[in-house]
Amino acid sequence: MNTLEGVTVLGSTGSIGVNTLDVIARHPGRFKVVALTAHTQVDRLFEQCQQMQPAHAVMLDEFAGMKLREMISVARLETEVTSGAAALEEVVTNSATNIVVAAIVGAAGLLPTLAAVQAGKRVLLANKEPLVMSGNLFIREARRSGAELLPIDSEHNAIFQCMPAGYVPGSNHAGVRRILLTCSGGPFRKAQPQDLMAVTPEQACAHPNWVMGPKISVDSATLMNKGLELIEACRLFSCTPDQVQILIHPESVVHSMVEYKDGSVLAQLGNPDMRTPIAHALAWPERIESGVESLNLFEVARLNFEPPDLGKFPCLSLARDAAQAGGTAPAVLNAANEVAVEAFLDHRIRFTDISCVIEHALSHISPHDDNDLEVVLADDAAARTSANSYVAGSDYKAAREI
Ligand code: NAD
Ligand code: MG
Repeated sequence: MNTLEGVTVLGSTGSIGVNTLDVIARHPGRFKVVALTAHTQVDRLFEQCQQMQPAHAVMLDEFAGMKLREMISVARLETEVTSGAAALEEVVTNSATNIVVAAIVGAAGLLPTLAAVQAGKRVLLANKEPLVMSGNLFIREARRSGAELLPIDSEHNAIFQCMPAGYVPGSNHAGVRRILLTCSGGPFRKAQPQDLMAVTPEQACAHPNWVMGPKISVDSATLMNKGLELIEACRLFSCTPDQVQILIHPESVVHSMVEYKDGSVLAQLGNPDMRTPIAHALAWPERIESGVESLNLFEVARLNFEPPDLGKFPCLSLARDAAQAGGTAPAVLNAANEVAVEAFLDHRIRFTDISCVIEHALSHISPHDDNDLEVVLADDAAARTSANSYVAGSDYKAAREI
């Protein structure tokens, strides 16, 4: 390849962002970092600028942006520092950017990721929440602009790898009978239901197989992550919720499977390391080194699969119901979940209250058609208001303070 591909990483200081830079650094002759972005983590973004020498760095927070600008100037780096939400949209649409890695956490990633799609870029999607909120819009805009949407959520990347060559995410494939979505089971797979009430944020964030940011770690503990992924799969692979079966697979070696009408089941396997799906999508359809070690199947020895315990993990049923309801119901589910997870991490509600917050929002907001971004954002805001008022009425903190 004679020209370098320009990569912009939204949320470069997070878990996916750091893994992305690890893969990119292995291929200096192939990729060049155009822009790195973060919310408030000045020191980490500064270190990344020293290492990757991007043309641009964006801090969402204005004050953090000023601090970073000062550090960059003292270090005599050539990186231009900007801040604010508009600056994020500028770097993703920049003509030097060919590939955008969407690795912001939560709904905050919606607008810059959509801007990248509308600008016709190759968009690597880790940030699943925007797809859950308004996936149909993403697919429609990608069709219009010619953007390539490539999933790097490990399960969806696995499903994509099991699809026939030439398959375009978002399109229908008549030969697919079912999608088998695997799930590690999270840290509380073996916990007794009555013990979940006392779970702390530290326990919820200690995932057995993956090291991830706090929000997705809590989602993995409640199994809401798998619920969001069910909706993500329906969006990306144009299937119905009924066609997606969830399997608890504690080894996290089979990253998901596709079952075809003839009975064939294709699986993608590998060590649980996000650098594999990231490298796959960065170079697709080629294959490049990711730094991930070979899978040792003798060491794994057994692959186990079991159905999820829906009584113990009600978030999974709430997500399936929202997927069935359609329209803005997934956006309401997602927004209420974001509020609930933040409140749990902040010790304002119990682990087991998370599903109650979401159920409350879903039962109070009737879904609308989701073809219009304004409608999606309005229902997202309504769900946050509903969830915040439920959290404010929680007796948990008061009980803890006695
Ligand atoms: P993280 O918390 O480690 O990192 C989040 C990044 O987004 C940071 O760089 C942060 O500065 C930035 N950010 C946070 N809030 C922001 C805001 N309001 N505006 C702009 N930037 C903001 O999260 P993560 O674990 O890397 O996950 C990122 C996304 O990828 C999530 O949507 C998650 O569901 C998805 N994902 C993560 C993994 C994983 O292994 N970590 C796997 C699959 C999918
Ligand atoms: Mg995943």
